[in-house]
Amino acid sequence: MAHRILILGGSFEARQFARAVRDLHDLDVTLSLAGRTAHPLAQPVPVRVGGFGGARGLARYLRSSKTEVVIDATHPFANVISENAINAAAAAGVKLIAIRRPAWQPIPGDHWTEAESVPDAVRRAGPDPRRILVALGRKELGPLTEAPWHSYLIRSIDPVDPPLGVPDATYILARGPFDEDGEIKLFRRHRIELIIAKNSGGTSSYAKLAAARRLSLPAILVKRPTVPAAPSVPDARAAKEMLVHLLGLEDERGE
Ligand code: NAP
Repeated sequence: MAHRILILGGSFEARQFARAVRDLHDLDVTLSLAGRTAHPLAQPVPVRVGGFGGARGLARYLRSSKTEVVIDATHPFANVISENAINAAAAAGVKLIAIRRPAWQPIPGDHWTEAESVPDAVRRAGPDPRRILVALGRKELGPLTEAPWHSYLIRSIDPVDPPLGVPDATYILARGPFDEDGEIKLFRRHRIELIIAKNSGGTSSYAKLAAARRLSLPAILVKRPTVPAAPSVPDARAAKEMLVHLLGLEDERGE
């Protein structure tokens, strides 16, 4: 019988991991999405969509689907589902592998300030009007209305609807990964002076910070929420190795 695994997704790593394991023998893979984006990217494995109903609901799902391993590959700011995954896996007696990508660290040339939260990031942008690239989730933009004197360039996957109650906001729809040259062009075109973003880590959205460094622009990065400890690996490749080991699979493609 094939081993059933559940990937909690909605991230670059989740797709990468799904792609890496889809051809392993004796594996039955499902990827779970919260259903936040209107047009989610196609996934390399079968998908289910929507919440489970908290940790208890997830534990019920794991038991009834006879899942053996759950891979928490959610975004580092999705801390509720990550904690639910820990509790549900323990309750259902299922193994857990968490992909925890390291936070970005500044290197010479970076001008970063750390913020505790989005409201704190907005406060740190200061009392003088600035032209700000905002790379936050669409649902996290509310605090920008506390500083209506800035000009905001807001990038999101789905439209911000209704628009924010600030006098100067420009909206662009785009989905990463982005590249450094493209980001530099964007920043120049909109005369960006400051970046507000989350310290997501990983490669797919790092280009804005590399571009900021090249242009000597400051960035305010919101700190990640803390998540309880779990057996974790830094990336999709290491997660695949751990899965192969846990289930005693043969990695025939040698990836
Ligand atoms: P969250 O606050 O940690 O979770 C809130 C609730 O959403 C969970 O309790 C769960 O509902 C449901 N949920 C979250 N991820 C799910 C998944 N993969 N499959 C099924 N249900 C899920 O999550 P969030 O920050 O809203 O993020 C939602 C999704 O967007 C995640 O898949 C995450 O990877 C992705 N994402 C988040 C961010 C971010 O900055 N937060 C950025 C990029 C992508 P129930 O309690 O009903 O099970």
